[in-house]
Amino acid sequence: MLPVRFRDQVVPRVAGSVLPYGNGRSYGDSCLNNGGTLLATRGLDRFLAFDPSTGLIRCEAGVLLSEILSLTVGYGWFLPVTPGTRLITVGGAIANDVHGKNHHLAGTFGHQVTCLELVRGSGERVLCSATDRADLFAATIGGLGLTGLITWAEFRLKRIANPYVQVERIRFDSLDGFFDLALGAEREREYTVAWIDCLATGRHLGRGIYMAGTHAAPTCDGAPRAPGRTLSVPFDPPVSLIAGPTLKTFNELFYRKQFRRVQTGLEHYAPFFYPLDGIDQWNRIYGPKGFLQYQSVVPMALGRDVTREMLQCIARSGQGSFLSVLKVFGDRPPAGLLSFPRPGVTLALDFPFKGPSTLRLFDTLDALVAQVGGAIYPAKDARMSPALFASGYPRLDEFRRHLDPVFSSSFWRRVTEDVA
Ligand SMILES: Cc1cc2nc3c(=O)[nH]c(=O)nc-3n(C[C@H](O)[C@H](O)[C@H](O)COP(=O)(O)OP(=O)(O)OC[C@H]3O[C@@H](n4cnc5c(N)ncnc54)[C@H](O)[C@@H]3O)c2cc1C
Repeated sequence: MLPVRFRDQVVPRVAGSVLPYGNGRSYGDSCLNNGGTLLATRGLDRFLAFDPSTGLIRCEAGVLLSEILSLTVGYGWFLPVTPGTRLITVGGAIANDVHGKNHHLAGTFGHQVTCLELVRGSGERVLCSATDRADLFAATIGGLGLTGLITWAEFRLKRIANPYVQVERIRFDSLDGFFDLALGAEREREYTVAWIDCLATGRHLGRGIYMAGTHAAPTCDGAPRAPGRTLSVPFDPPVSLIAGPTLKTFNELFYRKQFRRVQTGLEHYAPFFYPLDGIDQWNRIYGPKGFLQYQSVVPMALGRDVTREMLQCIARSGQGSFLSVLKVFGDRPPAGLLSFPRPGVTLALDFPFKGPSTLRLFDTLDALVAQVGGAIYPAKDARMSPALFASGYPRLDEFRRHLDPVFSSSFWRRVTEDVA
C-alpha cells in the first residue's frame, strides 16, 4: 500500500486503485487499500472561511477536529457533532458520517454539512449539497471514501458560552435501568451515553453508569482547568492489561466508585468528550495481539431483547473490555446512503483479540444482529461478512451507482466480493 500525498488538487495517475486517507483513526480496513495507493490528505489543512457571528465554517478536508476546536472555542463555537476522539479529519468525519453523544438531538456529522467539493478520479470537481448533485452528496456522506476525494467542506458550528460541560453521572443496576433513563426524560439531555459493565450477569446484567452532559451556562462557577499533559503508555505490555480477572475486578471497582446514585459536576469539554485522547497510544494496553471493536445497531422495537441476549453471550464468553458503551440513537433518517447511525440501540465494545474464540463470539453476535435487521459500523469493522454488510445497508445498490471506478479500499473488496 503506497501512501501518496494528495497535491495539486488532482488525483494522481497510478496503477491500481486509490483511497483517501485521513488520520487513520478507523479501527479496521476502511481506511486501507492493500495493493493500491493511499492519498494522504492531512496536507489539506487550511481554513477557508469562518464567520464568528454565525458559526459557519469552511475548511479543507485534512483539518483535524482538534484544530477546529482550537480555533473556534475561544469565539464561543463548538463542533455540532463530535465522536469520541478529536484526532480525526473533516474528510474522515464525513466519509464515515460519524456520530456523537448527541445523535438523539442533532443526528450525525453529515447532517451538519451544508456543501462540499469532491474531486473524482476523472479529474472532475463537483460541488455537492442537499440541492446540487444531491444524489452524489448523499452517497459521499458515509461513502467510505469511495465516491472521490473531498477537498473541502462547509458546516455550521454550535454556540457555547464557555468550554465547560455540566455533567451528571447516574448509576443504574440493570439493562432495564438503562432503558428507563435513555427513553425517559433523560432523552432531552444534550449529550448522553452509558458505560456498561459487560461482565455483569443475572439481575445485574447490563448495569453501568449513565453519563449526561449539557454545555455549561455563562454564569457557571468553579470551572475546572483545562487538562494538562497527555499521559502515555510507553511500552507494549506482553499481555493485555484489561482482560479476564483483571477486567472483572476493574469493572466492579469502577461501578462501585460512584457511591451516590447520582453525581454531578462541571468538567472541561476535553475529558468529557475525548477521554482516550488524554492517553497517548492507549491501544497498547491490549498487548501484542491488539483488539477488535464490535459496534452494532439494532432497531428499537427489539432493541431491549437483542441487547440483553448480546450481553449474555459476551458475559458468558468472559471476553470484552472496560470500553463498553450503549446508546439509543435518535429517530432522524440517515444523512447518507451508507450511514451507520439509524433509529435504534447501538452497543460498542472493544475486545482484546484472542484468536478463534473472539471470532466465534463475533459470529454469534452477528447472528443476533442480522436476525433483527441490524447493522455493523464499517469504521470499526475488520471482519464482517459480505452478507451481513448487504443486509445491514439496504441502499447499497443505489450507492454503487456513485462509486468512482478509480477508488477502492480493502474494506470494500472484502465486503462486496461475494455479492458484487
Ligand atoms: C478513540 C476513538 C473514538 C471514536 N469514537 C467514535 C464515535 O464516538 N463515533 C463515531 O462515529 N466514530 C468514532 N470513532 C471512529 C472515527 O471517528 C472514524 O473512524 C473516523 O472516520 C476517522 O477519521 P480519520 O480522519 O482518521 O479517517 P481515516 O480513518 O483515515 O479514514 C476513514 C474513511 O474516510 C475516508 N476519507 C478520509 N479523508 C477523506 C477525504 N478527504 N475524502 C473522502 N474520503 C475520505 C477514508 O477513505 C476512509 O474510508 C472513534 C475512533 C477512535 C480512535
